[in-house]
Order: sequence, then structure tokens, then C-alpha cells
Amino acid sequence: MVYQSPVFPIHDETNLSIAQFMARYNPDEVPADKVVHTDTISKQPITYGGLREQAARGAWGLQKLGLRPGDVLLALASNCNDFVLLAHATWWAGAVFAPLNTSATLGDISHVLQIVRPTHVATIAPKLDLVQAALTSTSMTKTKIMTVLSKVENLPQFPCDIISKSVAESLPPYDLQGRSSRDVCSTICFSSGTTGKIKGVQLSHYNLIMNTITMRISMPARVNSTIREVFFAPYCHIYGLTIVVLSGMSVGALYCGLLAFDLETFCRKSSELKATDLHIVPPIALALAVSPVTQKYDLASLKRIVISAAPLKKSVQLLLKKRLPHTRVCQGYGLSEASGGIIHQIDEDDLAYGSVGKLVAGIEARLVDPKTGSDVRAGQEGELWVRGSTVMMGYAGDKAATEQTFSGGWLRTGDILKIDDRQNFWVTDRLKEMIKYKGFQIAPSELEDLLIRHPDVIDAAVCAVYDDAQATEVPLAYVSLNLEKTEMPDHEKQKVLESIRTWTDNQLAGYKKLRGGVFHLQTLPKTPTGKILRRLLPAKLKEREAKL
Ligand code: AMP
Repeated sequence: MVYQSPVFPIHDETNLSIAQFMARYNPDEVPADKVVHTDTISKQPITYGGLREQAARGAWGLQKLGLRPGDVLLALASNCNDFVLLAHATWWAGAVFAPLNTSATLGDISHVLQIVRPTHVATIAPKLDLVQAALTSTSMTKTKIMTVLSKVENLPQFPCDIISKSVAESLPPYDLQGRSSRDVCSTICFSSGTTGKIKGVQLSHYNLIMNTITMRISMPARVNSTIREVFFAPYCHIYGLTIVVLSGMSVGALYCGLLAFDLETFCRKSSELKATDLHIVPPIALALAVSPVTQKYDLASLKRIVISAAPLKKSVQLLLKKRLPHTRVCQGYGLSEASGGIIHQIDEDDLAYGSVGKLVAGIEARLVDPKTGSDVRAGQEGELWVRGSTVMMGYAGDKAATEQTFSGGWLRTGDILKIDDRQNFWVTDRLKEMIKYKGFQIAPSELEDLLIRHPDVIDAAVCAVYDDAQATEVPLAYVSLNLEKTEMPDHEKQKVLESIRTWTDNQLAGYKKLRGGVFHLQTLPKTPTGKILRRLLPAKLKEREAKL
């Protein structure tokens, strides 16, 4: 059965580039001097009109640096004004914006360079050495580098050296030149998809424009010029990219970007800004619900909080509602491959706590038995398959992964959901082997590949365990050890396991660390063909805890 959105369908034949959309779309008739973006470091905020002017002049400067329509600009930058300007200048020039998390390691950057082959990289100065090393190791030394946020000798800095002061030095918004906006890639986000290594999710101009339009149609109260919000989730992730950098800026809302999260600053800034909305992830929902810090600040202006990007327990949602009774505490579900949010708690006065809500406009869904490919019976759990205007073009340079992810035009999400008779969806499980630590993706296979390179490890398996105290999944590893270590007394073996954990953590981006611990299991559960049965691992942990 095909489930439709309860919001009326969209027949929007928009054939604009993102830059043309930004130049023309102003549904609330926002004045040019309205401030739309601030951060914790820049002196000058961005205004509604200023963003478009600087994007036009930035596009001119980027073109002078050799960036052409269709080229890829890889960006490593934190949540700040310059990130927003860089994204829009890149789109205005008709190039593809590919933002990567600033905690990426040398291995991550090298892998991503090979997938997206950027002509330009913009990076914060602390990541410059890694970027240069990755470009050398991938023989991509012709790629042009610029810095953001601070100056490094002999390199251009965005925006100071690139955005011209002269209005004459600007480009018109990129024109699709007769091509369909559905066929032209605007952005590449990074995701592990349903399996393994990082993949480049290609989103067209149409995908991202329709994300803004569908959100505004489905939830007009949440996408308009009266919104004021402090945002900490990385702008490089689809959550920040769509909500702040595109939708927020297109409708003239006001966002304040935080470079890094701490609860005190988050609450203080929200109070100072008289924030109307927050978009957060489950661990922050728990922190807001239980920490005494929340009560130090006046948060009476908050109308809505949306919790998304990772599994949320109903108890946490209710706890937050109890602490902020005047605020609607809603949940949303989405994925990079569908340009972010596609299921939201829309009927804000009729919330089914614990559910992720209803399909947004323009999205159709099926719940499918992954073994047979047939729809499950009403009320039963199945893999969520979706199609619609925001579903990605495919994975950059990975035809096989793209083919595996689509079936007859439907995107297989790798998540298990069910639907109730009020059209509310409930996330019940995850089929794909992805761990979500505070909204960040971790691929178990990446951690396993690293673990087995340790001299004491002969095999490894990584799975997610839920940490109730932090309201997040964390990665936990089981390793089988070489014979000499296996025969050691327990307390010595424990030291070996600890050193394996430290050795592994030191080579990983901060959010990927083995926070669930490293345990010994001489024989890992596997299929007869040798595939690790990761789903059986949490049971092994329970057996172990029962024995202690
Ligand atoms: P990303 O592409 O990083 O946004 O990751 C998307 C994945 O995050 C989804 O496929 C789900 O596995 C998970 N996810 C997102 N939102 C939720 C939610 N509300 N509840 C449970 N899992 C979620």
C-alpha cells in the first residue's frame, strides 16, 4: 500500500537553480536589512539582502579563482556566517557545495576527495595540514585551497580575499541553461548509507528547493520569517544545511550559529535571542529536560522544539515537555538521502508522543518486508521505502550503491517503521548497519577495519548499544584476540582491551570513539558465509552482564 501525506500534494514545477530561487523567493516580503544570521565570532551579522549581494560577489570571486559551474567545492567549516556565505556563493556560481564535518580524519578526507574530486577546498586553518596531506596522498595537488575564518600566508581567505567590495564585480544567479533542476547536482552531503564507508549523497537543485517548499507547506508555523533560533548541529549535516542555510535564509528567519555545543551557551543565547524554535537531537533533549542549567534562563519565548536525527525515547520527549510545558515538543524523522526531514509531527495539537509523525507534503511511502519486497499488512513493521521530490539523485561515483539503495524508483531507507490508524509513523528498528551517536553517523565496518589492524586483534565486530544516561547510541566492539593474549589472566586481558580501545580511539574522529567499550569474545557470531551477525552482539553483552 502506498501511504500519502495528509497535507495536499504539491504540483510545483519549479525549474530554478538554488541561486535563482534565493533571488526570487520572498514569501513574507522580508525587508533587505533584516538580520538573518549571526554567530559567536563575527562582528557583522548577515542581512536578508546582504546574503544575496554577497553571494553574487562571492560567486564572482570564486569564478576568478577558477571555480566553474559543475565543479565541486569541498568545505570544512563550522557553524558561522562564513559557512552560510560560502554555501550561497558556491550555489550562485553554479558549482556543487560539498560540506564535510570538521572532525574528519586524514583517512576520511582522502576518501571523500576520491569520491567527489573537488576542484577547490575551503578549510578552517586547523585542518589545513590534513587537507594538504590528503591532497598529496590522492595525487590531487592541483586542487585550489582557500581558508575560512582565519588567514594563512599565501592562501586566499574566504570571504575577505574573495568577496569583492565592488558591486560591479558580481555574477547573476546561476542559470540552469535549459537543463532540468532535477538533473543538476547542487550539493553533496556525506552519509554512510545502508552499508559501510562514507558516500556522497547527490542532491539536485530541485531536491533542496522542494525541501524548503514542502516544509513551508506542511508546517507554515515552522518555516517563516518570524522564527528565531540558536542552532548547534553542524551545518555540514543535512539537518543544519536545510533548516538554517537554505530554508531559514530563504524565508528570512533569524538564526544564530554555534561553533560548538555547550548547554550553558545554548540556553543563554536562546534566552537573549528570545528564541521561538529549537531543532535538537535526543541527548540534548535529555540534557535540557534534566539539567539545572535550563532553569537558570528564561525560555518562555520557545514555541516549538523539534527533536530529530536519531532514535528518541518517548520518556525523554515527555520529560522535556514536563520541564517546558508551554512549548510543543515534537519529533521528526529524516535522512540525508531524502534531503532531511520527511516525517514530522505535524498536528501539533494532537501529538502521538513517541511517534515520528506524518509524511510531509510531496512524499509517498511504503512499508515493505525486506526479504520478499512485498508490502507488509496494515499495522505491521516493515522497511520504509519512500519516493518524492526530495529524494536524492544517487551516490557520487558509486553506481552499485545507488542501485542497491533504490528499488523500482523507491528509496530504501534501511529503517524499520510501522504506521497506526491515525497515519502516525513509529520507528521501531534499523536494518542498516549504522550507529547514530548524538545524530552523527558511524559505520560499524569502518571501526572493525581499524580494529583488525591492531596486532593483538584477529577479528572484530562493532554494534550499537543504547546509553540511557546520555540518550544516545554508542559504538561497542567485540574482539577476538591472538592466542597469546587469549590465554592471559582476566585482569591482564582487560589491560590489553583498554590499550586496543585507546589505540583505536586515537585514530578516529571524536564522535566515532568506542564509547561503549571493547570486550573480548573469542568466536564472533557469523553467517556460514562469514558475514558478522552484528544483531546478535547486544545479546552477548547481556549474557556477559548476567554472569558478572
Ligand atoms: P542522516 O542521514 O545522518 O540524517 O541519518 C539518517 C538516519 O538517522 C535515518 O535513516 C535513521 O536511521 C536515523 N534517524 C533520523 N531521525 C530519526 C528518528 N526520529 N528516530 C529514529 N531514527 C532516526
